[in-house]
Amino acid sequence: MDNVRIYEKPLNSPAYVYPCTIEDIEQQLQMYPTKDVAGLYAVGLGPRCHSERTLMGFYERGPRPLIELKAYPATLCERLPRYCQFGKSQRHLAVAIRHGMLLERERGWLYCKWHFDQLKRHMLEFILSHEVGHHVFDTQIARKSWCTPSMAANESFADEYARRFCKFS
Ligand SMILES: [Zn+2]
Repeated sequence: MDNVRIYEKPLNSPAYVYPCTIEDIEQQLQMYPTKDVAGLYAVGLGPRCHSERTLMGFYERGPRPLIELKAYPATLCERLPRYCQFGKSQRHLAVAIRHGMLLERERGWLYCKWHFDQLKRHMLEFILSHEVGHHVFDTQIARKSWCTPSMAANESFADEYARRFCKFS
């Protein structure tokens, strides 16, 4: 754990804020069993590119596995692309709503609205835990499997893993 690098990249636009600090990340990392974060090279905060609309975090596998949490619009409000309204992201939205996010419909579009503290909690308890879940899946489960597990299996494992670290009030 102690050798996981924690970083914060400069924000590329005043229209975005980081939903938590690197100290928050350090603190949240203490919540996971040591073996689950073993081998993680770095965890950090990074700006969100235009092509990464609605992306809140990612896990990058490879020789230096990395987790990055993404900046969020400073208005704490975001319109969802149409494709987000179906399927997989619906499960994620359900968790976000339990963390206090408001989902509002205006003229056929869905908008996510947050209070900062709720967004921060969601980022740490669910998004970061979900990405740690991908790392656990990669290093502890996929490696022992005799065939390559599906993406869907990987995603549902990460969701289930993350739920264990979510405290809903
Ligand atoms: Zn995922």
